[in-house]
Amino acid sequence: MNMATGKAPPVIHWFRQDLRLADNPALEQAAMSGAVLPLYILDEAAAGASAMGAASRVWLHQSLQQLDASLGGGLHLLQGDACTQLLRLCQQHGIARVYWNRSYEPWRRQQDQQIEKALTACGVQVITANAQLLWEPWQTLKRDGTPYRVFTPFYRNACQIGVMPPRPAPALTLARCETPHPSLTDLALLPAHPWARDRLASWQPGEAGAQTRLEHFAVREIHDYRQGRDFPSHAKVSRLSPHLHFGELSPRQIWHRVQQEGDTADIEHFQRELAWREFSYALLYHFPTLPTKNLQPGFDTLGWQTHAHSLACWQRGQTGYPLVDAAMRELWTTGYMHNRMRMVAGSFLVKNLLLDWRLGAAWFWDCLFDADLANNSASWQWVAGCGADAAPFFRIFNPVLQGKKFDPDGRYTRRFVPELAHLPARYLFAPWTAPEHVLDKAGISLGDNYPLPIVDLQQSRERALMAFKVREQNRALPQS
Ligand code: FAD
Repeated sequence: MNMATGKAPPVIHWFRQDLRLADNPALEQAAMSGAVLPLYILDEAAAGASAMGAASRVWLHQSLQQLDASLGGGLHLLQGDACTQLLRLCQQHGIARVYWNRSYEPWRRQQDQQIEKALTACGVQVITANAQLLWEPWQTLKRDGTPYRVFTPFYRNACQIGVMPPRPAPALTLARCETPHPSLTDLALLPAHPWARDRLASWQPGEAGAQTRLEHFAVREIHDYRQGRDFPSHAKVSRLSPHLHFGELSPRQIWHRVQQEGDTADIEHFQRELAWREFSYALLYHFPTLPTKNLQPGFDTLGWQTHAHSLACWQRGQTGYPLVDAAMRELWTTGYMHNRMRMVAGSFLVKNLLLDWRLGAAWFWDCLFDADLANNSASWQWVAGCGADAAPFFRIFNPVLQGKKFDPDGRYTRRFVPELAHLPARYLFAPWTAPEHVLDKAGISLGDNYPLPIVDLQQSRERALMAFKVREQNRALPQS
């Protein structure tokens, strides 16, 4: 084994969800201490039930490729148990310091503690920093030391802390480890099926792509964010979520870049959405069972249905409700779904189909490029009504009215449900109300080339409200 470094043994920067060079505080500190061996370890077993979904793996492949290119081909890849790999590398090369940026997923926190303990026991110093959040979860507690469960006071309090300005990329002296190690292809992150290629068509993973997207959004799109963000066919949202998830750019960079555009209501609104991400991370940190357990235990007795056919129809965008189907097909074909559509499709699953929110969260986890344990879990709990500051359970999105309001010309729906492309706008969101001759003219045969609704909106709404009421009554009963 031979570490081509120059003089003193290098230090390790362990990349995780910080796949960038700029505003990367742990990397910057590592760079100040000498030559740096940039390392990424694919440790899939450690994540357990939170292992990456298919879409995330595809994005990660692209992002690692870009990071490696910006390191001049110097990214050292390893696979397997992270603790074993780090210990081996440090011991073999006399490495005395390992740097990483903190992560907040429960499994990572647990693993980080174990690794830090093992490295320290071997005389290796661990230095960690915050690259992922505007505010650490322990900075945003209430006066009594407990976490906020309501967003607005959380945000008000957090804003008092301020947001650190981003730092430029450090000058790096790279160390190279000549030991044979897996290549990116060996990590086998890409599926055998070529669907990934098409899905990636509208994305540019990696730090440079993230910067380009941010710049485009800040200059051209943010100025109508407050109104435009609700309309899925308007290009008024940032689409920065996968870049943020993989740490290809930092929330501090985004916050300060949009701030340069002025102090408008649009910019304030956008920063508030970034703070929802912080709120989700604080919830996950303080309530580590957020991905699996109702934050409000009163929901544990809600009578979820188990209906595999309904779930499959929802997943495939075959519910017979065009807006829901468009949303689910957007997810499948692009690896993304617009925020309002996530709420509509989520509400439909949980309330109209009365299926457990965890089934929806699992599907999103597999299909979203931005699949994020904090945001996905907190948002699904929000939709289901069992989370923090959640939408009340009785608020049930009506996909027909939502379509008329937020996709008035039907552009979004027609794009993803092309079998309805020729249906006049007045029938687009409820094709079963169209007269026979209108359907004929549009080439639609309901139940044949487009499904009839799988549930009745009114009846399913009443069923959901009844399940909720029964749950309330059960809770009120004295416990034996
Ligand atoms: P923009 O509107 O441009 O917002 C900018 C950034 O702010 C986003 O990238 C995101 O980081 C943050 N943000 C915006 N809205 C929210 C929100 N409601 N909650 C938390 N952070 C927010 N977001 C994910 O990043 N990963 C997920 O797995 C995820 N799952 C979701 C599941 C459901 C059921 C719902 C209703 C929402 C989910 N969200 C998730 C939140 C939100 O829909 C996305 O962050 C947003 O649509 C991403 O698009 P954007 O970057 O264009 O957002």
